[in-house]
Amino acid sequence: MNRPIEKRPLDVTLSGRILFLTDDADLIRRQLAGEDLDWPMDVPLRDNISTDEITPAYICYYYDERLGDFPYLGLKCGDELPVTEGSVRAGGFVCSVSGSRRGKGSSREQSPYAKMCAGIRIVIAENIERIYRENCQNLGILTSTDFSLIDRIRAGESIPLSVFTEGEGEITRGIIEYGGLFQYNVARLQGKVTVPAVSTGRRPMTLGEKILARHWVTDLARDEVGVPWVQPGDEGFVRTDIRFSHEYVTPMSAIFWRQLVGEHEKVAGPDSIFFFRDHLTFLELVMTEERKASGLLDVALELKHQQEAFAEQQGIRLYGELGRTLQGRMGIPTGSEAICHSKILEQHALPGHLIIGSDSHTPHAGAIGTIAFGVGTTAIFNSWLTRDVRIKVPPSVLVRINGTRPPQVTAKDFMLQILRDPYVRSGQAIGKIIEYAGEAVWNLGIDERATMTNMAAEVGAFTGIIRPDETAVAFLARERGLDPDAVRPLLEGLSSDPDAEYEHVIEFEASDLEPMVALPGDPGNGLFIHELGQQIAIDIAYAGSCTAGKKSDMDMYAAVFRDALEHDRRVAEGVQCYIQCGSQEVKRYCEEQGYLELFKRVGAQFIEPSCGACINAGPGVSYAPDTVTISAINRNFPGRSGPGQLYLASPYTTAASAVAGYITAWEPSTAGASAGV
Ligand code: SF4
Repeated sequence: MNRPIEKRPLDVTLSGRILFLTDDADLIRRQLAGEDLDWPMDVPLRDNISTDEITPAYICYYYDERLGDFPYLGLKCGDELPVTEGSVRAGGFVCSVSGSRRGKGSSREQSPYAKMCAGIRIVIAENIERIYRENCQNLGILTSTDFSLIDRIRAGESIPLSVFTEGEGEITRGIIEYGGLFQYNVARLQGKVTVPAVSTGRRPMTLGEKILARHWVTDLARDEVGVPWVQPGDEGFVRTDIRFSHEYVTPMSAIFWRQLVGEHEKVAGPDSIFFFRDHLTFLELVMTEERKASGLLDVALELKHQQEAFAEQQGIRLYGELGRTLQGRMGIPTGSEAICHSKILEQHALPGHLIIGSDSHTPHAGAIGTIAFGVGTTAIFNSWLTRDVRIKVPPSVLVRINGTRPPQVTAKDFMLQILRDPYVRSGQAIGKIIEYAGEAVWNLGIDERATMTNMAAEVGAFTGIIRPDETAVAFLARERGLDPDAVRPLLEGLSSDPDAEYEHVIEFEASDLEPMVALPGDPGNGLFIHELGQQIAIDIAYAGSCTAGKKSDMDMYAAVFRDALEHDRRVAEGVQCYIQCGSQEVKRYCEEQGYLELFKRVGAQFIEPSCGACINAGPGVSYAPDTVTISAINRNFPGRSGPGQLYLASPYTTAASAVAGYITAWEPSTAGASAGV
């Protein structure tokens, strides 16, 4: 409380070189070797640079300044990866420049932190994904969409700080001016800054706006929350009901906590904080011997130990690893209790909750009418102190899907269709609240709804949400044993007002859809399977992850495989098929339904719950560029699940392709096979 906290100077002088990120590998290499490119340039800037490319998953085993040796190591230019270890740091760059949708993908704060540790102080892009941009601001990195700054930086001009705060709300401006979120929050606790009160008057609100209004912090010291109305653009802090993080993030947050707050200080509200060991449970099974020899496995295991130690010290519930076998130096893990999103929806979330998680797929819990969104390491760490998180109320976008879907069309197909919508592809949905509605959505079960809210992350949205209804009540009664009469009052007021304002509406007929597949590289590369125009043989079929490891997903895999067995067919020769549940709860369901035996008989390999292959860290990853995988996971950015070609599809299509040996939609031989989805 007494530490000196000062704002940055009013003018910023950035001295250093500019790194232009393009598709041209040679151009990147020339810059890293010392050549400064002319601006404007006649080569297009690279779009869609994901955090997987900035800091591939294995780089995120580091959680300190060593990260500065690794930014852009996964940047794919054609088939090449031109950035080498240490080259960005050695290049003396102060600014990096790219095209649209910079920082898409996961919420990993290692990406901006790696750049910061390599010397980059400003990121310029046509548009910047919400979490990535907030992570930059929270760390003190400047961001801009103003390309005229390039010449000013090169000329060594001092640039008014106001250039970076213009158009921002008071809080974001304060965070930028104080050089980061922690510094701002300390100033807030010291009374140096006052969060402006929201003065929005009566207006119709969307569902998302209503939940944000209910959680609006009006007085941090007196623990007062709630305002009657908010509108897009209102800035403030919202009180969380649940905060969670996994082993990729907890250790870095814990270090920040120990360094900046105090070794022996206690977090606020430990009962509503959850930790997960899910992303790297099976890492040692797939890490190459070369990487193990370089010490990377030991670095990665530090994440597990750091998280366990902090959980124990703070009395926080950790959903951890199952036991280890006795093989090897440390034994081999046998799985996780659960993937974070799966467990939060199964066990903890309630309609109307406000949830933050250290993962871009946190919106998963929006399936029962929560506002759940991903935040970075600094925001998680700050929430342990204040229990709140900063927010700028985003505009809402309505996605209405009318009519009745064909039996083999699933929520995943809905999402691949939405992701190829021009509004989404052009990045206009970035940072928005996506409210899914319409008969075809409301006819889905909660698991399938969760596929849609989960994949709001691929849309680039702030979150995804679906109005809670009797299906949500039945889910909570069935899965958690809650009394429906006790749950129903939670639904009160949880729907959008009839005249609520949406910035944009995407609408289509479910009956117009067919099973889809997204071509490698981006979930937005969706096509109807019949549009593929060629038969694509597969090597791997991966059926798991938080998106596709739920009970209804298991029902879908089982329906296809049962159908196959009845026709004396099995997983095709030469195809490796993996099935992985999102939690032990789902595994128990599979046992009860007899699915484990069914999967075995059809030739699929069952793996204990964990993120695994989805994050390039478990059985099911590819090892060669020409390996072709069909996968039910949510994203297929370059390198996401190994170097191979990853096609995204629904659980039905993934299972059917495993049996066929090539990408195909499921043509059920039996009627009513999609029942229960
Ligand atoms: S399964 Fe994949 S998308 Fe889901 S939490 Fe794990 S790594 Fe993220």
